Amino acid sequence: MIYKILLMGPQGSGKGTQAELMARELGIPTFGMGQLIRDEIATGSELGKKLYDIILPGNLVSDVDAANLLKLRLVKPDTARGYILDGYPRNIAQYNQFTFDIPTHAIVIDIPREESLKRLGGRLTCRVCNKVGAMKDGLKIGERCAACGGEWYQRADDTPDAIARRLEIYKNDTQAVIEKYSQIVLRVDGVGTIEEVWDRIKKVLKIGKYGAC
Ligand SMILES: [Zn+2]
Repeated sequence: MIYKILLMGPQGSGKGTQAELMARELGIPTFGMGQLIRDEIATGSELGKKLYDIILPGNLVSDVDAANLLKLRLVKPDTARGYILDGYPRNIAQYNQFTFDIPTHAIVIDIPREESLKRLGGRLTCRVCNKVGAMKDGLKIGERCAACGGEWYQRADDTPDAIARRLEIYKNDTQAVIEKYSQIVLRVDGVGTIEEVWDRIKKVLKIGKYGAC
């Protein structure tokens, strides 16, 4: 059985953690576009240098470059039995470039908006050492980081408004992608513990104790 899995879910859905669990269970690699870009830059290749020059000033890698990067990754031997593609394609433009391989499953981890806001909200960052912490663990804006004495603050993209905007973009962009893959979409409820969500994923993929053998 080959598992070419697309993994989708909003920020705060625990998608990265579930990707790791799936990768270990199935013995296949997991990667997202951000990681592919960082890995290519680290090789020092011509393409890596080009990508570095694009992202250094804060620009986004084009959909064509992203697709080429993925194409290069998918010919590596460790993907012979499949892969988990974390968060790609995230919109129709990327979907249209992803013409060189056919995924077998598209897992969508659903969590309600309020749950995303709850999980993502309240994240604070230390101005000095960049450590992150959570208000739910008792940290307060303006108080001091125990590690370095720096001030805890809320980054502009961690405010409730910014999080709500990101979730809205995710919803609009991925909805169209999910429709394109409707034949292979498996929806999983992302509310609950890591173990509970993982159990649901094993069930829809028919692996582990839910497998045939
Ligand atoms: Zn600090």
